Amino acid sequence: MTTQTLTESITCACGKCSCTVDPATAIEKGGQYYCCEACANGHADGKGCGKSGCGCGS
Ligand SMILES: [Zn+2]
Ligand SMILES: [Zn+2]
Ligand SMILES: [Zn+2]
Repeated sequence: MTTQTLTESITCACGKCSCTVDPATAIEKGGQYYCCEACANGHADGKGCGKSGCGCGS
């Protein structure tokens, strides 16, 4: 039996980021939700989101 918890988790709007974000704590920009400032800024400074295993920003 599988129990699926319906959380409001969504994926970061950054194209290369696969992190899930909680709308309650996500950074919102232009109506989209990002996991961190770096993603929200489109990695303008080349920084990744810092999550291990996520290669976005590089
Ligand atoms: Zn990421
Ligand atoms: Zn992200
Ligand atoms: Zn990103």
